[in-house]
Amino acid sequence: MLVEGAILDVEGPRPAYVLFREGKVVEVGKPGTDSRRGRDHKVRGIVVPAPVNSHTHLGDAVSVREPPRVPVAELVRPPHGYKFRLLSAASAEAKFRALRGAFRRMARDGVAAAVDFREEGVEGVRVLRRAARGTPVRTVILGRPLARPVDPRELSELLQVADGVGLSSALEETEKTRTSVARACRARGKRYGLHASEARRELPDSYLRPRPDLLVHLAKATEDDLLAVRDARVSVAVCPRSNALFGRQPDLAAMERLGLSVLLGTDNAMFHAPSIWRELEFAYVGTRLRQRPASASFLARAALVEPWSWLNEPAAARVSEGMPVPPLVLRLPPEDPAYQVVTRTTEHLIVPVGSRRPGRSPP
Ligand SMILES: [Zn+2]
Repeated sequence: MLVEGAILDVEGPRPAYVLFREGKVVEVGKPGTDSRRGRDHKVRGIVVPAPVNSHTHLGDAVSVREPPRVPVAELVRPPHGYKFRLLSAASAEAKFRALRGAFRRMARDGVAAAVDFREEGVEGVRVLRRAARGTPVRTVILGRPLARPVDPRELSELLQVADGVGLSSALEETEKTRTSVARACRARGKRYGLHASEARRELPDSYLRPRPDLLVHLAKATEDDLLAVRDARVSVAVCPRSNALFGRQPDLAAMERLGLSVLLGTDNAMFHAPSIWRELEFAYVGTRLRQRPASASFLARAALVEPWSWLNEPAAARVSEGMPVPPLVLRLPPEDPAYQVVTRTTEHLIVPVGSRRPGRSPP
C-alpha cells in the first residue's frame, strides 16, 4: 500500500508518501518521488504514530452510568466512594467482560498502548493482564496496594505483576505511604504515578516529593505549580472530558506555553468511552473556549508523540522505515494535518495496514 499525503509525527506535519509492506513502513519520501510508482494500492491520507491512551481506569467500564451530582472526591475516593462500591458489587466475570470490551474499543481506534491505574490490589492487576492478552494494545498497569499502612509483602507481590503503582492523590495518601511506594518502585525499575490538583489545588511539594514518573490532571494547578512540574521533568496526563464532567478544565495553553510534557488520557471508563479521538476533539474544542487556546499540534503531540518518550520508545513517534510500532493511516485530506487529525478522526477513517489488527489481512 502506498499512502500519499502527509505525515504528522515528532517532526511535525509535512507532505510525504509512505510505502507499506505487510503492515510495516518500508519507504518514506516526498510526494511523487516513490520508487514504485503505479504498482501499489494507493490511498490519500495522513500517516501518524499510533496513539497512546495515557490515563485510564478501564476496570470502571463494568458500570457505565451518569454520575450523581456530588463532588468528584465522593465519587472516586477509596475505599468506599461511589465508584468503589460499584466495583465491589460487580462479579469477576462482569469485570472481565467489561475490560475485554474496553480493549476492543481501543483496538478499533488504533490505540497501541494504554497506561492504566488499576485499583483492587494484586487481583485487580491480574484480571486486567488476562483481559489484555491477545489484544494489540500494550498495557502498562500501575496497580494500587490495598492495605494501609502499606504492607511490604503486598507491595512486593503487586510489583511482581504490575508495571508500577498509581495512587489516588497526596490528599488521600500519607507522605509515608507515598515515600515507601515510590522507593519500592524505584528499586525495581518500575513507575510511580498519582493524581494531583484535580478538584482543588494542591501544593507542588506534596505531589513532587517523592518525585513521581507521572502526574494526572493538574486541572487546578497555577502557572507556578506548572513551572515546578516542568522543572522536575515530570510528565502530566490530562483528561479534559473527565474534568469537564465535574466543571473543570486543565489550562492546556499554559502547559503548552511553559513547555510541559503533556499526555492525553480518557480517565474513568465508567463515565467516558476510552476513545482517544473523542478525547482529542473535546480537548481541542474545549480549549478554544478560552481566551488563549492550546494549538491542535500540541494536542496531537499529547496523543501521538509525547507518550512514546514516556514509554522509553521515542522511535515509535517518528514515521520512518523500520519503526518499532506500526503507524496509523488516516483517510483524511492532507492539508493542515494537525487540525484534521485532532478534529476529524474516527475509527471509520483508519485504514488497516496489516498485522497489528487481527482478523484483517494486510493490503
Ligand atoms: Zn484517574
